[in-house]
Amino acid sequence: MSDLLAPVIRHAIAPLWARHERSDYLRHYRQLRETQFWPVERRLDWQWQQVQALLAHAYRSTKFWRERFELLALRPDEIRNFDDYRQLPILTKDDLRSDLNDLLAEGIDRSAWHHHKTSGSTGKSVEVYVDDPAQQWRRATTLRSDEWTGWRLGEKVALVWGNPEYVKNGWRGRLRNALLERASYLDTLWMDDAAMRSFVAEQRRRHPTLMMGHAHSLYLLASFIEREGLEPFRPRGILSTAMCLHNHERAGIERVFGTQVTNRYGCEEVALIACQCEAFGGLHVNSDGVYVELLRPDGSLAGLGEPGSVVVTDLTNRAMPILRYKLGDVAVWDQTPCSCGRTLPLLARIDGREADYVFTPGGQMISGISLTENLGVLLPEAAQLQIVQERIDHLRFRIVRGEGFGEASLERLAELVAQRFGGSMTYEVEFPARIEPEASGKYRFCVSRIGNPLAARLEAATP
Ligand SMILES: [Zn+2]
Repeated sequence: MSDLLAPVIRHAIAPLWARHERSDYLRHYRQLRETQFWPVERRLDWQWQQVQALLAHAYRSTKFWRERFELLALRPDEIRNFDDYRQLPILTKDDLRSDLNDLLAEGIDRSAWHHHKTSGSTGKSVEVYVDDPAQQWRRATTLRSDEWTGWRLGEKVALVWGNPEYVKNGWRGRLRNALLERASYLDTLWMDDAAMRSFVAEQRRRHPTLMMGHAHSLYLLASFIEREGLEPFRPRGILSTAMCLHNHERAGIERVFGTQVTNRYGCEEVALIACQCEAFGGLHVNSDGVYVELLRPDGSLAGLGEPGSVVVTDLTNRAMPILRYKLGDVAVWDQTPCSCGRTLPLLARIDGREADYVFTPGGQMISGISLTENLGVLLPEAAQLQIVQERIDHLRFRIVRGEGFGEASLERLAELVAQRFGGSMTYEVEFPARIEPEASGKYRFCVSRIGNPLAARLEAATP
C-alpha cells in the first residue's frame, strides 16, 4: 500500500502551498525539530525573553493589562524573572468573557487575525483572537507533535471528530483537503452504527497512517469494531486529544487497532500544551509555544508529583496577550525523564478539570476521572457511564447498559458508592440509550452541580 502522493505533498505541494499562503510554518517546524533538544537553561532564557517582550507589549497595547499593572502600581520592566512574574494576577475565563475587547491589542492590523471559540463544557464559551504569525507558529508546534505518532506530513489521516471543518469552505476546502490535509471524518455528532460501519470500511480502503480524535469517541469506535467483529484498519499512530484518556479506554483502543495511543493535551485558547512522544512516557510540554505553571491552592508552585492547577502563558500571541491564564485543569509534573532525549519538561498526567471533581458528604475531593476509571474497571458491562453530582449527598449515575449488565452489576455499584463516599451518600441510577457528547463533540464523564470548593479556594488565594 505505497502512498506515492505523500512524499510529493511533503516535499513539493506543502512548501508551495505555504508560500502561496505566505506562511512560515514549515520553516518554524524545521527550527522546532532542533529546539526540542536544547539544554534546559537555554530554553528558559528564551522563554523569559518572550515573556518580557509580551509584558511590555501587553502594557503598551491593551487597556486590560495596562489597568492591571496600574492597579498593582507596577511597571512591566520591574518584573525581572519568573518569580516576579508570579505577582501578576491570574487571568480567568470570566476575564476573557467580560473584557474581551480590552484584551485585544490596539495598533495592529486585525484583518488577518484568527478567531477561535471554545464550546466550553461549563456551557459558557470563550473567544480568543490570534494574530497570523502566532497562528503559523502554533501550526508548526502541532505538526512537530503530530509526527511523534509516526505519521509524516503528507500522509492520510482518519479523524473521529465533530464538525468537519473543510466542508464549510466549499471547493477550496475540498481541494485543500484532497491535496494537503488528506483527512476523512467520522462526525462524532452523528456517530451511529451505520456511520461507524461505513467509516471503518472507508479507512480499510484508504490506509490512513494516523487516526486522531477525542479519547472517548475513539474508544466508542473501538468497542463497536470489537462488538461487531469487524476487521479494523491499521493506522501507524493514534492520537487522543482534547480530553482525559482513561487507562481502560486506552487498553481497549490499543487492543482493537494493534498500536499504541499517543495522549495529547491542549485547548482552543492556547492550542497545544503537552503531548506524548514515541517513547510513550509523560507528556512533553510544548515549551516553544506556552509557559506552564502548576499551582497549589495558595498560588505557590506545586512540586514534582504533586497535583497543581494548570496556568499557561501563550508565548507568541500578540493579538490578545494571554498571561497566566487558569484553565481549570489539574496536572502533575513527571519525576522521570523521557528516554527520547528531548528536554521539554514532562507532565505525568492530567487529572482533568477542577469542575470534574466530586465531593464526599465529608468534603473529601475525588477526581471524576479516577472515579469513572475505577467504575469502568469494576463495571465492564456498562458500555458508557456518567456521574452527575446533584447535591453534596446525592449522585445520579447515567449508565448505558452493555452485554451482561444486571442485578450483580447494581450490587457492585452500591458497594463502590458506600466504599468511596461513605454511608450517607444517596444515589439514583438511570439507563439512557446513549450518552450524547456536548456540542464540541467532547464527552463529560462527571458533571458537578454543586460548585467547586477547590476552585473557590484558589481564586480567593490569588491576588
Ligand atoms: Zn520523549
